Amino acid sequence: MSEVCGECGTGRDTDDPATALSWSREREPGDDGPGRLLCPACVRAHTRDIEARLPPAWWS
Ligand SMILES: [Zn+2]
Repeated sequence: MSEVCGECGTGRDTDDPATALSWSREREPGDDGPGRLLCPACVRAHTRDIEARLPPAWWS
């Protein structure tokens, strides 16, 4: 099974536990679903937006 970044579509190797530490799962307010995954590159690129709790539509 594989998972993909919700932002850029990069795939995560779920057989490698180390990737679980660097990938982040984001949930939007009021979203009870599984959220979406972000790869390390996207986590870094959007750290400010994530911390500000901006909806992804506002991300640049
Ligand atoms: Zn990504």
